[in-house]
Amino acid sequence: MDLVIIGNGIAGITAARHVRKLDAGARITVISAETDHFYSRTALMYIYMGDMTYTHTKPYEDGFWKKNRIDLLRDYVERVDTDARCLHLRSGGTLRFDKLLLATGSVPRFAGWPGEDARGVQGFYSMQDLDRMEADTAGVQHAVVVGGGLIGVELAEMLHTREIGVTLLVRSDWYLPAALPEEEGRMVNDHIRARGIDLRLKTELAEVLTDDAGRVRAVRTNHGDEVGAQWVGIAIGVAPNIRFLEGSGIETDRGILVDRYMETNVPGVFAAGDCAQHRTPPPERPPLEPLWYAGREQGATAAFGITDRVRPYAPGVFFNSAKFFDLEWQVYGRLQTTLPEHERTLYWQHPTAEKAIRLNYAFAADTSGDGAAVPRLTAVNVMGIRYRHDVCTHWITEGTGIETVLQNLGAANFDPEFTPQHEADFVAQYNRQTGRSLTLKRRRGWRQRLDVLAGS
Ligand SMILES: Cc1cc2nc3c(=O)[nH]c(=O)nc-3n(C[C@H](O)[C@H](O)[C@H](O)COP(=O)(O)OP(=O)(O)OC[C@H]3O[C@@H](n4cnc5c(N)ncnc54)[C@H](O)[C@@H]3O)c2cc1C
Repeated sequence: MDLVIIGNGIAGITAARHVRKLDAGARITVISAETDHFYSRTALMYIYMGDMTYTHTKPYEDGFWKKNRIDLLRDYVERVDTDARCLHLRSGGTLRFDKLLLATGSVPRFAGWPGEDARGVQGFYSMQDLDRMEADTAGVQHAVVVGGGLIGVELAEMLHTREIGVTLLVRSDWYLPAALPEEEGRMVNDHIRARGIDLRLKTELAEVLTDDAGRVRAVRTNHGDEVGAQWVGIAIGVAPNIRFLEGSGIETDRGILVDRYMETNVPGVFAAGDCAQHRTPPPERPPLEPLWYAGREQGATAAFGITDRVRPYAPGVFFNSAKFFDLEWQVYGRLQTTLPEHERTLYWQHPTAEKAIRLNYAFAADTSGDGAAVPRLTAVNVMGIRYRHDVCTHWITEGTGIETVLQNLGAANFDPEFTPQHEADFVAQYNRQTGRSLTLKRRRGWRQRLDVLAGS
């Protein structure tokens, strides 16, 4: 089998590695226009900040690919001919395939603002974007970042480390409202402001203003304010990178449409990662999942389909983590920021430190012996505290009752040894609110963790 993979990101590379394990005879070629080797896109910011070099971001030694007989090709695929089963490359050649995996990622979204093509205005996604940012922010005094998501705050932090003043325009009332409830979102607002960032909420970009040389000199907001800036970062989201597929016969909507095996409408042609869109998403998952862990799981699923094995996409409990400057965030399960009728939330926030714990629970359809609905954990959201992945996913997968979770909550804590633990405060607050008298049975520690996982 000749397998060609377009894209050397987490989805394409995970697929290549799994196919190699599943089919020793497969000929595997990975094409990328961006870099020679796979690197961790999520670490791009650390290169700009001087904490890492490109070499540090490569998870595998350069010799790994030859050893595993995975051929790497640096080129851009301009057209896919599904009838002839071949790719047309920018370098002029063609490449035949039996099976094809499209793992082409995303491109930054722009909104069509006047002046958005000016020099000094850019999105931030690729190694080329990093190079451009490096060149265009040299000597800059003040920058504007547009967008209240994870890449927006990263850009603000990157610029901040170079002592460039930052105005951050965010459309909503608090940071990341699609993923963070109001209390946590406001904690992020305060944290960003405390770092000296000029965070402007309920504010959108209206226009980019340029100087005579066509370079950005300021932006105008939807409130009519003018903010002087010599560089503008656009971070309002990403869109699947699929334009080069026009006329290929591969069905697309917002992304490349795939079934549960990550296969497109063309037999033997698969898609995975940011560029893929589920026709029927798994429960509690959106059709598009532009996230690292989803790309990895989808790449693995595609490898099974490519090697004619039956293993549908089943991503398990949702997990994500990020940092807003120094404030760490973890979420497990599908956290509903607007609670559905059958769901409740328990929220505790430290009176002075930037720490918070939230547990959401739902009254499950099944009932206990006496006919009462059983409230079960559905999601965990922690700010400024680290929780254990296996413990949280175990509780959510098992549908553990909320009071069992509360009594064992200390076992989920994964903070360093001498950091204060706050789970007892959380349980005390629950008791005050409900009139119950639960006690915290477990504190953090590997033995407590093993006991929880063993169900003892
Ligand atoms: C700055 C930044 C920070 C992020 N932080 C997080 C985070 O904290 N947590 C998280 O879950 N996610 C994060 N993400 C998102 C995450 O990185 C992506 O979801 C993931 O990298 C997508 O992987 P992928 O394999 O689908 O595609 P990509 O990594 O985008 O790889 C696709 C590759 O295909 C190449 N390509 C595309 N078209 C062609 C073509 N026609 N010919 C040849 N090559 C082509 C591209 O150049 C690219 O190299 C972040 C993203 C960015 C940009």
